[in-house]
Amino acid sequence: KLILVTGANGFIAAHTIIALLDGGYQVRGTVRSKASAETVRKTYSAYSDRFSAVVVPDMSVQNAFDEAVRGIDGALHIASPFTFSIKDNEADLLIPAIEGTKNLLKSVAAHAPQARRVVVTSSSAAMVDFSKGLWPGHAYNEADWNEITYDYAKTADAPVAYCTSKALAEKAAWKFVDEQKPHFDLTVLCPPMVFGPTAHALSLSTMNTSAWDIYRFLSGELDDVPDTACWAFVDVRDLANAHVRALEIPEAGNERFFIVSERYSYQKTADVLHASPRIAKDDKKLIPVGKPGQNYPSPEVYEVDNSKSKRILGLNYRSFEESIVDAAVNMIQIRNNA
Ligand code: NDP
Repeated sequence: KLILVTGANGFIAAHTIIALLDGGYQVRGTVRSKASAETVRKTYSAYSDRFSAVVVPDMSVQNAFDEAVRGIDGALHIASPFTFSIKDNEADLLIPAIEGTKNLLKSVAAHAPQARRVVVTSSSAAMVDFSKGLWPGHAYNEADWNEITYDYAKTADAPVAYCTSKALAEKAAWKFVDEQKPHFDLTVLCPPMVFGPTAHALSLSTMNTSAWDIYRFLSGELDDVPDTACWAFVDVRDLANAHVRALEIPEAGNERFFIVSERYSYQKTADVLHASPRIAKDDKKLIPVGKPGQNYPSPEVYEVDNSKSKRILGLNYRSFEESIVDAAVNMIQIRNNA
């Protein structure tokens, strides 16, 4: 079976492509440039008979994926801008996220008659209700939606604009299948912060946003432990597995899943890294200490409900400790080899 993966050179896509290839699939990955195509061909050179790369320079233009989808049996739409270093909320976040999603679905509907399912990587950013703050007593679940509008997001700060780009892209996907009733069904995955080791070609200067979120604890750039922004995480290897299951499990069709392990905080991040025997003493000197044991997830902070993903997708989640230490060990290696 041939599966299209958009944004093949990214952090989450890399683990997902490996899971697909290990599962015996053929993978066609889209990237934005010839240089990225070369990079991913190298990354998956061990599977050169089953991995190919195609260049889709701008997914916001009509029919962008028409050629890329030909002959596919399913698609994972992972590409979307996840960055806060932007100049223009619409051009850099909202338009590529929303139009990219619509264009992928349109191309599959028009040119991939044997495709059975499209899986869209949304985010807990599409679920968060900013008006509720830490929402004590609530357990975030698949029924929650970020209801911020396009007009508001146009001039909001970058994190809010990013979150809204994910919500509006996901809404556009559900609207498309609802109105067009295509020959395939849709499954949506909503992960919170995604941690764990990297599998894509990564340099310290081009680090993806969630890898950098951990790397800054190791780089010496933090004087203190920052306030926690998002209180939940999932390991990238579990999310990769979730993508494959979302593609394969019939009951996952037309469903939205919160793909989440457990709650964490930045203070817990610092504490776990300091306590780990896998991190050298000299590396620990760069990690901020903060207030050990304080500011952990408490009853004052929302809970997370992953029961639907366990029930239907059969997922088991890695712990925060495993994910964060594996991530740190991987990034220290990358830094030492740089
Ligand atoms: P990466 O930055 O590693 O990957 C993003 C991918 O999307 C890259 O292939 C990138 O291509 C592509 N992309 C970015 N902007 C555009 C654009 N304007 N047009 C076309 N392609 C674009 O991020 P992640 O792997 O972390 O993220 C992958 C997906 O997961 C995204 O949809 C993100 O929103 C979602 N997600 C990520 C979370 C996390 O914590 N990492 C949490 C929740 C959801 P290029 O290299 O050319 O820029």
